[in-house]
Amino acid sequence: MSKYWSELTKKLVPYVPGEQPKDKKYIKLNTNECPYPPSPKVLEAIKNAANADLRLYPAPECDDLRKTIADFYGIKMEEVYIGNGSDEILAFAFQAFFNPGEKVLFPDITYSFYPVYCELYNIDYETIPLDEDFNVPTQMFLRENGGIIISNPKAPTAKYMSLDEIKTILDYNSEKVVIIDEAYIDFGGESAVGLIKDYPNLLVAQTLSKSRSLAGLRVGLVIGNKELIDGIIRVKNSFNSYTIDRLAMVGAIEAFKDTEYFEDIRQKVINTREWVSKELREMGFVVLDSKANFVFISNDKVDAETIFKSLKEKGILVRYFKKPRIDNFLRVSIGTDEEMREFVAALREII
Ligand code: PMP
Repeated sequence: MSKYWSELTKKLVPYVPGEQPKDKKYIKLNTNECPYPPSPKVLEAIKNAANADLRLYPAPECDDLRKTIADFYGIKMEEVYIGNGSDEILAFAFQAFFNPGEKVLFPDITYSFYPVYCELYNIDYETIPLDEDFNVPTQMFLRENGGIIISNPKAPTAKYMSLDEIKTILDYNSEKVVIIDEAYIDFGGESAVGLIKDYPNLLVAQTLSKSRSLAGLRVGLVIGNKELIDGIIRVKNSFNSYTIDRLAMVGAIEAFKDTEYFEDIRQKVINTREWVSKELREMGFVVLDSKANFVFISNDKVDAETIFKSLKEKGILVRYFKKPRIDNFLRVSIGTDEEMREFVAALREII
């Protein structure tokens, strides 16, 4: 605390990302990164773009990248917005569409950044309890609100909700913006992008950090009706005209063009997830059905915090949230087959 901080800064409780310790080499299964490198074509494009043109500002609206993504999804360029990671996009969207005094709804167990944005912008919110099996109680979202945000697949449980359930929420809430945060959609779920033509109140946020293995490049995107996209651009241009740099732009374009590589690595992650889930269940773990690049697991004999600490001692990092309802669960990112074999062997020793 400093006397120089504004009143707002004093009150903030910022989001805490998963740890990145430097004391030794860990198997990192704690921040849902992709275990495989980015496409070689992405790396080549970035290297080629590291030239004298870096003296020039990048294209403020990222037109070439928006066009590439629009072609990938069969939508219009005006329906795409690019940002510096989807975290930044969500922050802009909260400011663009949600008002103080009108309660934004999201599940009680969710991506912990949502309440942080609400605090930052002084937006009221109400959390909707997930049911006992961590499913979204759709009916509870059919009520007056100031907007809705749901991650699908859900963070941190990895569970997926169907497009029919999303449609029910969109139909009822036609006067409010509904954001579906699809950071993990490429690992088996069906995207809601196809719904934007029928729902002018829908925004679908995605990221290149997970299925395109570019967490370090910081590129996210959001897709929706042009009027919604224009709203986000207004906020962006009141904050920083150039959120994406030249290198990120060319790298992201190649990441969308190299569909073969994309298909290959996401399928590898899915395959690994499936055998790991089966193996853990055979060992007596509860493993929630995952459509993400991580699994959410629990053991009724050894508590999650003990497992978390023991894994860390063995050089394996996973994520533990000391929060109500999920304090006996661990979130484990899917690594390579070899990393996951080591993880399973370490777990066997611990339990
Ligand atoms: N949404 C969810 C649900 C996430 O888990 C993450 C990753 N922490 C993000 C958004 C943000 O991803 P990024 O900023 O890397 O695009």
